[in-house]
Amino acid sequence: MSLHGTYDPQNIFAQIIRGELPCYKLYEDDDVLAFLDVFPQSSGHTLVVSKKAAARNILDIDADNLCKVMRVVQQLTRVLVEGLQPEGVQVVQFNGAPAGQTVFHLHMHIVPRYAGQGLGMHASSKADPAELEQLQARLVKCINRL
Ligand code: AMP
Repeated sequence: MSLHGTYDPQNIFAQIIRGELPCYKLYEDDDVLAFLDVFPQSSGHTLVVSKKAAARNILDIDADNLCKVMRVVQQLTRVLVEGLQPEGVQVVQFNGAPAGQTVFHLHMHIVPRYAGQGLGMHASSKADPAELEQLQARLVKCINRL
């Protein structure tokens, strides 16, 4: 069952954290990494992961690392709202395949929502790399101004 089980250190986010796979990094500290979703459901869709906790989901992660992740989620939500001016923002997290989870390393989604624009399909269409690069540069500037 995907809700329970053993953490797989070869999952895609673990590989990104180890630097074995690239990402459009927005923020990193000793404990937390944030990067753009490459199959975004809206412009600015961001993922925030713990670098220290080998946790599949919210059931597995220790409270200390969860708090560190959530601190960054709040900071980046503020940055995304200020930088991209969406009319709304969703902060979501899925646990287990039936709930929509596809990568089994705990992560929070920050999804800006723009008035009149529907939500893209989850994990389905790959964004243009040039657009992701531009967005990354724009958001990193906003983060560096903090
Ligand atoms: P979830 O379905 O909640 O497990 O979310 C996993 C998210 O990871 C989805 O929104 C995917 O679009 C996203 N994703 C998958 N592979 C990558 C990748 N290599 N870099 C960035 N985001 C990814």
